[in-house]
This record gives sequence, structure tokens and C-alpha cells, in this order.
Amino acid sequence: MAAAATASALSYYLVLDFEATCNASHLPSPRPQEIIEFPVLAVNAKTLETEKIFHTYVRPTSHPLLTPFCTQLTGITQSQVDGQPTLPEVLRSFHSWLETNGFLEPSVRFCFVTCGDWDLKTMLPGQCKYFDWPVPEYFRSWMNIKFVFQRLTGVKAKGMPHMLEYFKIPLEGRHHSGIDDSRNIAKILTRLARIESNLQPTTTLKLSK
Ligand code: AMP
Ligand code: MG
Ligand code: MG
Repeated sequence: MAAAATASALSYYLVLDFEATCNASHLPSPRPQEIIEFPVLAVNAKTLETEKIFHTYVRPTSHPLLTPFCTQLTGITQSQVDGQPTLPEVLRSFHSWLETNGFLEPSVRFCFVTCGDWDLKTMLPGQCKYFDWPVPEYFRSWMNIKFVFQRLTGVKAKGMPHMLEYFKIPLEGRHHSGIDDSRNIAKILTRLARIESNLQPTTTLKLSK
């Protein structure tokens, strides 16, 4: 009997953690909810070193004023989003960044890594729908690090701080800052990739018609 095909190894993990406009938990989220921070760390899958960083704040257009709660939660101030590019502009510059750095070469295989499914299952598709933009193909599958953590440790992942605590990694920077969250997720990823080297995407986007 033929052996099951093994998925080819990834060249890069692209760790991503969006921050978005928000209200206090007991209130509904702003509609549409909008991405205000867009950080991506490119982690070499062999060396596990972060080689490149794409990072920008994003100017929300439907609700241009951040709530005091949002600033308190994320540390993102009004002046950090004012004058920044809007999401369609950021998606264009992110695509150019991928191209310029060779990530779109046929020989390179990358996978986004997120903590949970919200970033690429809910947030980005919701905004793309709002702007009437197709979700770029490369955002349609990702690795939910919580699933990988659970599979490799046998412990249910409660969230980023819990996974850091499990590996005795101090939380770097500020929780709910997108760039700091991405750095912390990358550290968890590094530990998991040392347990199992050939990590693969866990989830695929199913677009509603
Ligand atoms: P995170 O990656 O966990 O920092 O969260 C991403 C986004 O989810 C934040 O930028 C907020 O828009 C929203 N969010 C996270 N935690 C809360 C909370 N406790 N209350 C309201 N919104 C939140
Ligand atoms: Mg997050
Ligand atoms: Mg975050």
C-alpha cells in the first residue's frame, strides 16, 4: 500500500495578529469592526529566526475615532491611526512587501500563524466584504496556534498568556498590542516547531455566498 503523502515543508511562518476598533466587552463591537494594526513577522521555518517584519497602523474610516476603551486595551492612540493608510491601501502594500521579499516565488511556501481563528476567519473577510475586495488567496488558510498547542501538549489552549505561561516564557511588551502579541505568538510557535518540525496549516476559509 502506498504511504500517505507528507505535505511539503513550509519555508516561512507569517505570524499575524490584528487589532481592531472595539467597545468594552459588555457592549456590541462597532459595525463594521475595522482593523487598526496590521503586524506580520516572517519567521524562517528552518532557523526559527524572525527575518522580516511588516507593521503598520491602519486608519479606520467608518468609525474614525477610537473609543477610550480601545486605546486602553490596545495601547493604540488616535494619533497613531490618524493619517495612516486605509485597509485597501495596506493590503496593496502588504502584497508588494510579499513580492519584494520573494515570498510569492513558486519555490517559497508560507503559512499565516494566528492565535485563534478570528483574524483570518472573521475580521479580514468581514472587512474585505465591506470594501468589496476579494480575500486574497494566500489569506484563505492559516495555522491556528491554539490547535497545534493542544495537539502537541495535550493541554487545552486558553489564550496567548496561558500558552506563554505553559512554556515559562515571559510576556514581552503589552498584551493586545498587535506587534507585541505577534512577537509573543512567534515565541510559542518556536517552542512548538521544536517539538514537531513539519507544522502545517490547520484551517481553511469557507467563504459564504
Ligand atoms: P487580541 O489579538 O486578543 O489583542 O484582540 C484582537 C481584537 O479583539 C482587539 O483589538 C479588540 O478589537 C478585540 N478585543 C480583544 N479583547 C477584547 C476585550 N476584552 N473587549 C473588547 N474587545 C476585545
Ligand atoms: Mg489576536
Ligand atoms: Mg492582539
